[in-house]
Amino acid sequence: MYENLKTQNIDNIADFIDLRSDTVTKPDAQLREVMAAADVGDDVYGDDPNVNALQDEMAQKLGKEAGIFLPSSTQSNLVAMLTHNPRGREIVVGRKYHIFKYEAGGAAVLGGLTYDPLPVQEDGGLNAEDIHAAIKPNDSHFPISTTLVLENTHSGQAVSMERTIAAADAGRAHNMNIHLDGARMFNACVKLGVDAPTMAAPFDSINICLSKGLGAPVGAVLVGSKDFIHQAKRWRKMLGGGMRQAGIIAAAGRFALHNYVDDLAEDHRRTKHLADALRETGRYDVTYQDNQTNMLFVHLEKDRAKKLGAHMRDNKIIVSAGTESRIVLHRNIDDNQLDQIISAFKSFNG
Ligand SMILES: *Cc1c(COP(=O)(O)O)cnc(C)c1O
Repeated sequence: MYENLKTQNIDNIADFIDLRSDTVTKPDAQLREVMAAADVGDDVYGDDPNVNALQDEMAQKLGKEAGIFLPSSTQSNLVAMLTHNPRGREIVVGRKYHIFKYEAGGAAVLGGLTYDPLPVQEDGGLNAEDIHAAIKPNDSHFPISTTLVLENTHSGQAVSMERTIAAADAGRAHNMNIHLDGARMFNACVKLGVDAPTMAAPFDSINICLSKGLGAPVGAVLVGSKDFIHQAKRWRKMLGGGMRQAGIIAAAGRFALHNYVDDLAEDHRRTKHLADALRETGRYDVTYQDNQTNMLFVHLEKDRAKKLGAHMRDNKIIVSAGTESRIVLHRNIDDNQLDQIISAFKSFNG
């Protein structure tokens, strides 16, 4: 189901509790202080101390050699695809994964790359057998399957290490590059109790988003080997992602990385609480699996979904109301607001 993702026209949106995404988080007072005080330099010359530190710290945290700061996870994934794959190569990826479904086909349009999208399993992972079966023989009819892309979390589901390693091993068996779109990888680490280097170990490159659950305003970091990041830097420049005094935003990313990762457990706790409360009403069809982190899904028929959206809006809550409404919790929602959200769902009798 593809629904229109356009913005909702709401006046005074700041007065609303926003459940559309964890990207809506605004930098708190601490982050703003850090940003105001940040030392900066020209990052295209490699002179920005906060960008340099963020790149090193993220690489170190994930047990990789180097990192590069980018304006968004979309650009980070695209740079990874352009760096891993010469034109004409194939990316094997989950059909519902962001790189395939929500990045406007960037790797195809700008990189001359093709995708082979595989079914995503119940737990958010890919089947190793499907990966083996997708690899093309060396025959002039076929593109060369060059890069495998996994995603964690996917739809808020933390994919287990066991599933991840089996998929990565399948890719390795065919000499593929293995990329993790780990925009929300720290949610998966916190949920599964797996440390970041262990989670990152099966991968050549990993994208991490700073402006989702971590609460920084802008940016993503791509990590990998020194050589990979050196090449990625050229692609970033070509795509217009070379920023100048980017330390203003990188400083917020550093602070979030060091101080806010553990808080993701609170988002997960509140999400479970909300799922339980919605199920208790007996009136909502809720998808919340055991490996869910900060998202749940409410299934409604179209008319009822529309009414729910209006009802929530009357209660100063924004949801992307559709037949499958994604509800996302994040660090700008506290326990009081959670109670308000639950009350609003309970008082809906559409
Ligand atoms: C949000 C997201 C992205 C893209 O992030 P932007 O910073 O909005 O470009 C990529 N991959 C995954 C898995 C995401 O959740």
